Amino acid sequence: MSPTRGAFTGEASLQEIKRLSHIVTSSKPPCDFIIALGGGKTCDTAKQIATDLHVPVAVLPTTASTDAPCSALSVLYTPEGEFHKYSFFEKNPNIVLVDTSIVIKAPARFLASGIGDALATNIEAREVRNSPNFGKGLPTNVSTAICQKCEEILFEYGKQALDANKAQALTPAFEAVVEANTLLSGLGFESGGLAAAHAIHDGLTALPELHHLMHGEKVNFGTVCQLLLSNTPAAELNRYLTLMVSVGLPITFEQLGLKQVKDEDLRKVARLSCAPGETIWNLDCVISEEVVYNLLKASDAVGRAFMAQVGKA
Ligand SMILES: [Zn+2]
Repeated sequence: MSPTRGAFTGEASLQEIKRLSHIVTSSKPPCDFIIALGGGKTCDTAKQIATDLHVPVAVLPTTASTDAPCSALSVLYTPEGEFHKYSFFEKNPNIVLVDTSIVIKAPARFLASGIGDALATNIEAREVRNSPNFGKGLPTNVSTAICQKCEEILFEYGKQALDANKAQALTPAFEAVVEANTLLSGLGFESGGLAAAHAIHDGLTALPELHHLMHGEKVNFGTVCQLLLSNTPAAELNRYLTLMVSVGLPITFEQLGLKQVKDEDLRKVARLSCAPGETIWNLDCVISEEVVYNLLKASDAVGRAFMAQVGKA
């Protein structure tokens, strides 16, 4: 049996899914299953194709940059990189196989992005305990435990794992963070539910100048917004910001790559963050575009103040 190969061109869009699906269906003999080999968007594209064509999928992530490998959904984008929609499946991937000796070869920025995506998991899930999760049920005690364990690992080993990644040294800390980023975050967000951090990530895709950023980097700024929306006390907020900065995750507009931010751009981000069906609506507090607009500005201000406080401004 010989594999049919299709190279992913970089965006999890309907157009890319159609193009790669054609390669699968025109293969002779027909493909029995799909193997996804790559990062988060590659995994999401492969999961969508496998669902559409009713074939099993094995996900073999080469980075620990998102929690996409384990989930029963794909995040789809326009060909230009703007958030399009969530696509939900009946089941999770048939196999998820992570080889940390491969994952460690990815740049450390990928691991940091995965830490950003995973750090959002508990912060969002604990705010939406009364809303249906992605399985349309309420979160259980075990899903809460998974989310908490995920966060605990990131605080204990996140920085160590990043340093190990930079040194290309496979350590227990690196293994633990890959598990947190991939498995615990994946099970956690699906069973626990998402809230403002991911909605604001989706909103940030409205700005083309942010398309170079990785998923977890944009999510991370959304996490700061979520923490402010939850009225997180200063000591706890500083604990999160310290971890974020220690692994190089962005907490200001400037770190995101926005030098001069126009109010109209922030309004665009707020509008897309509050689109119908967005995960921000899982929250049981007052939400509006105005609320998000203010959160974006406040998060940047808090981020800048923190950077000045730690002498990195
Ligand atoms: Zn995510």
